Amino acid sequence: MISSPLSANQVPEKKIRYRYETSGRWYKGSIHLHTVSSDGHLAFDQVVQKYSSEKFDFISVTDHWCLPDLNGNRETLPLLVINGVELDGYDNLGTYYHVLAIGASLKASFLTRNFLKSLRNFYSQGAVLIWAHPHWTGNSIREGMRHKFHGLEIYNHSSQCENGSGYALSHWDGMLNHNPDFLGFATDDSHFQPDQPYWKGGWIMVNTTDCTQQKILEGIHQGNFYATQGPSFNSIEYGENTVKVETSPVTYVRLIGPRRKGQWIHALDKKPVRQTEFELPPDWHYARLEIEDAVGKRAWTNPLWQYE
Ligand SMILES: [Zn+2]
Ligand SMILES: [Zn+2]
Repeated sequence: MISSPLSANQVPEKKIRYRYETSGRWYKGSIHLHTVSSDGHLAFDQVVQKYSSEKFDFISVTDHWCLPDLNGNRETLPLLVINGVELDGYDNLGTYYHVLAIGASLKASFLTRNFLKSLRNFYSQGAVLIWAHPHWTGNSIREGMRHKFHGLEIYNHSSQCENGSGYALSHWDGMLNHNPDFLGFATDDSHFQPDQPYWKGGWIMVNTTDCTQQKILEGIHQGNFYATQGPSFNSIEYGENTVKVETSPVTYVRLIGPRRKGQWIHALDKKPVRQTEFELPPDWHYARLEIEDAVGKRAWTNPLWQYE
């Protein structure tokens, strides 16, 4: 627990605690991908094989309006498959969205023809709702605030490869100014079509004790994960108003806060950085870390403390 990084006039009634607890193992997961059940090119088993051959620990198969039918054979698969689905549709103000719903208790009966009703069903059953590729869809920050999303895709690899619209970091900081618990995810949105071969470009690493649906989903709900294009956070530890990280070799480490606030270190002419410590400014209502390696690949933590 920490006293309060909020100044007196900012949400003083809320207690906060540090988000990261990295004494477990890091599990690698891809949570946005498609199969022949919607607009993907490969069958479920082929997609499972592909991701397990790349040492992914878990995936969530998120076909459009269709939950994967595991036929009770979840235990025999070479990696953990978490139930998921991608919904798209218009809200009552006419704004179009794509949203991922991920959760252990998702059922096909939650899918109604109505987009908002389906979202509400999934939300009430404890699913994680992720605002997908907002730049690609053309959504504004205000549109993201209208619904109960838990987080957003800050990087969608397919949107980036195809349209150059895969990043949503300014959407994220805009959302964090209003909701400092908002989570950031990196995904492939892989389809494996001959003209859409993109994958292994964005994933998440969840720190927990076991690779079970329950533990991974708990870790995601709590934000005890980071999003990455390659670089890794090996440990994230807190001192008295400080955060200390060990990472893969990187060129930049940035502590990013609201609006213009930031601290950074770089190793432009020196050896790559592997260890960094920052002081957590008491007047920022959120702070998140970003690392970048020598070839420009980045990884992002969630906000470093959470609100109750
Ligand atoms: Zn989509
Ligand atoms: Zn998709």
